[in-house]
Amino acid sequence: MRQVTLLGATGSIGTSTLDVLRRHKDEFRLHGVACAKSVDKMLEIVKEFKVDVVAMSDEAAAEELALKLKANNLFAEVLKGDSGVEQLAGDGVADVVVGAIVGAAGLKPVLAAVKTGCVIALANKEALVMSGQLFFEEVKKYGAKVLPIDSEHSAIFQCLPYEAQIDLGYCDLRKAHVNKILLTGSGGPFRDTPLEDLKHVTAKQAISHPVWSMGPKISVDSATMMNKGLEFIEARYLFNATDNDIQVVVHPQSVIHSMVSFIDGAIMAQLGQPDMRTPIAVALGFSSRLESGVNQLDFTKISNLTFREPDFERYPCLRLAMQASLSGQAATTCLNASNEVAVDAFLNNRISYLDIAKVVEETLNQMPYATLSSIDEILQTDAKSREVALKIVETLAC
Ligand code: NDP
Ligand code: MG
Repeated sequence: MRQVTLLGATGSIGTSTLDVLRRHKDEFRLHGVACAKSVDKMLEIVKEFKVDVVAMSDEAAAEELALKLKANNLFAEVLKGDSGVEQLAGDGVADVVVGAIVGAAGLKPVLAAVKTGCVIALANKEALVMSGQLFFEEVKKYGAKVLPIDSEHSAIFQCLPYEAQIDLGYCDLRKAHVNKILLTGSGGPFRDTPLEDLKHVTAKQAISHPVWSMGPKISVDSATMMNKGLEFIEARYLFNATDNDIQVVVHPQSVIHSMVSFIDGAIMAQLGQPDMRTPIAVALGFSSRLESGVNQLDFTKISNLTFREPDFERYPCLRLAMQASLSGQAATTCLNASNEVAVDAFLNNRISYLDIAKVVEETLNQMPYATLSSIDEILQTDAKSREVALKIVETLAC
């Protein structure tokens, strides 16, 4: 029986992970769950999975949950605050910690888990974008193992040979005879919208992704293709790749989840339904396969698969992310922080859709590019970038 801790249990990835775990109760036991403030969802999770520990970053929500657990005769230790989430992540009980907190908030808990030397099934791409190199130094130091949940990275992972799969962060793509990693993305809901109409895009339209059902932040990131930019950086760290090793390809149908081409001209692709339970099952089951509840793809119902180059005029955020990737960790941390601030302001109707890229670009212009050599320095850069980005939001706010 493998013990699992699920960080971000109440979100979109968290809910899909619970569904996979529900199908394999004889193989996995849910030890701990963490979220920010979703009391009622947590109550249901404790009821169903009889977890040992719950951690909530919002202290008032944690207190409310503790009262509700008592009233329902349920027993679980309740930890509160960011420190409580970190404490659960680093308690050393879990064999697998699923990192599915959204945004920079996920970094410290995931690092606490790394220090226990467990398997990290990672959805929280922002953690890698911020800390990639230092993150993998910690992984090596503590003997942890990282497995990707992000669907594209899971696809690439599945296309790579076993020696590379068990050495994420350090694998040698040349030894694996890889020519290129082909990172696919749908292009989001506005891939065919006339450019002049993009200024009218609302938050509601941006979070209605045509293929995937996801949390609000990543849905906006998918529309701007910042998501693909973050994934480009994530792929660099996970697969120990250079910027030249990765090519972004727009593939509107999202049937192929990414590909790897090899030096002999062969291309391996991973295909499937756009359902995150597949990559979650791949990470939880590795190196075996688990039933995930995902329907099989029916090729007779797929009329066409199309591909195109990304258009940087339509997707300036993708360009900014690829440039930041070349500049290094300070730039990628700044990119991520300013994007989180900008997306939040857009979702709260404070700035327009096109302003998201403006906030990110202007913040990158204003921030100095120091070399970051510790997690504390990364967190300081994150905080400073947020301050700068917020000021830029104020000047743009409608
Ligand atoms: P959601 O917004 O749906 O869920 C976010 C989760 O994080 C919730 O459980 C939320 O709790 C929790 N959370 C937020 N802040 C904190 C905090 N400070 N401490 C503890 N928990 C916190 O996001 P998604 O599930 O869509 O995304 C999660 C991560 O997975 C992101 O990094 C995203 O990029 C990545 N990802 C998501 C995919 C998807 O299909 N959704 C695909 C690939 C990657 P609460 O409910 O209380 O607010
Ligand atoms: Mg993805």
